[in-house]
Amino acid sequence: MANFLFSNVDTVELAKKYKTPLYVVSEDIILERFNEIKKDFIEKHENTMAVYASKAFLTKEMARIVKREGLGMDVVSGGELYTAIKVDFPMEKIVFHGNNKTLDEIEMAVKYNVGRIVVDNFYELELLDKMASKYKKKVNILFRITPGVNSHTHKYIRTGQVDSKFGVPLNENIIYEAILKAINSNYIELKGFHFHIGSQLQESETHVKSIKVLTSLMKEIKDELGFITKELNTGGGYGIHYNGNESRKPLSYFTDAMMEELEKECRKYNLERPRVVIEPGRWVVGEAGITLYTIGSIKNIPNVRTYVGIDGGMPDNPRPSLYDAQYEALIANKVDEEITDIVTIAGKCCESGDILIWDLKTPHIEAGDILAVLSTGAYNYSMASNYNRIPRPAVVMISKGNDRLIVKRETYDDILRNEI
Ligand SMILES: *Cc1c(COP(=O)(O)O)cnc(C)c1O
Repeated sequence: MANFLFSNVDTVELAKKYKTPLYVVSEDIILERFNEIKKDFIEKHENTMAVYASKAFLTKEMARIVKREGLGMDVVSGGELYTAIKVDFPMEKIVFHGNNKTLDEIEMAVKYNVGRIVVDNFYELELLDKMASKYKKKVNILFRITPGVNSHTHKYIRTGQVDSKFGVPLNENIIYEAILKAINSNYIELKGFHFHIGSQLQESETHVKSIKVLTSLMKEIKDELGFITKELNTGGGYGIHYNGNESRKPLSYFTDAMMEELEKECRKYNLERPRVVIEPGRWVVGEAGITLYTIGSIKNIPNVRTYVGIDGGMPDNPRPSLYDAQYEALIANKVDEEITDIVTIAGKCCESGDILIWDLKTPHIEAGDILAVLSTGAYNYSMASNYNRIPRPAVVMISKGNDRLIVKRETYDDILRNEI
């Protein structure tokens, strides 16, 4: 009987050693992605920077790896920023996002000298201006722009269309006013603009269209307001492989298309090409993670379907119930056995929607088998909850054939920790 090796480590042995459910993350794969970013983006195009979108997967160990590899990191909350602070992440390489940063979060960002604050709206601009003047500090900002471009992805992970909760609308009156306010502030230094148009994108088209929109804005505000855009942050969104229909393209598929369009448009408008920042999250960690579960109850409803129960589900992976995300999986202790069955993988929560995978083709399954769900590195651990008071799984990191615990399994007492 052969076991499934992930990043050269026997996953059945990992399940035995650390118990299940278990998140397994490969540092080897993360480093491959970072090296591709360095080689095919940073070194290929000058005046560029890459920022890891930490919301996809963040622990102190992940932040240490990003720091060691020299990339920047984007955060969208005080909690993510705090994690970065705790590992002495260089604050000048932090980009702070969010459509409703609280006053406390804004204060934290100013106090710790975060490199870029991406301002989403006028309310935030005012709070930030006051906070910066209180601390007598100059803060570097970008405006998040909604470029009005529709991306072909699930509506919950689409962010670039006109009707979005994110960003300053590209309406002349609104954007001019925002730019003028920033220019006239003594404490705010407007560096340029940011857009992020959606996630799990399979085509470069929406990024290219957004570049067209942004360069035209750059030209207009140079002529009308004399403002020179020095930095353009183009967000993330590059897709990965989850199941048969989706693939992970090389980074350069997206970035080369974007850079080419940007160079072309800048030449056309006689603009200096701004510094370009990318912010991949899912593309870096998605395929670097798997989740291991132990199979328990198996219910066959004759002529209907077979439900296979696992010891986790929507608390550790809410994506299938949140936006119909589809995953591939295999029986880790039976990888060389013939595929004979079609089963539905059901989570253990009190929700009929807690189904991890519909109609998975498997060998004959028995209680005690280990299920490995693939491509769970992004937006799984970071989205995990304690629904039904289920403790969050441990996280194990794989590096060069060795495993190390980076997050301990939660205990029942951890769940009760703050209760009075
Ligand atoms: C979520 C997010 C990203 C990363 O998105 P991915 O699809 O994981 O690459 C980048 N930038 C911003 C502003 C985001 O909100």
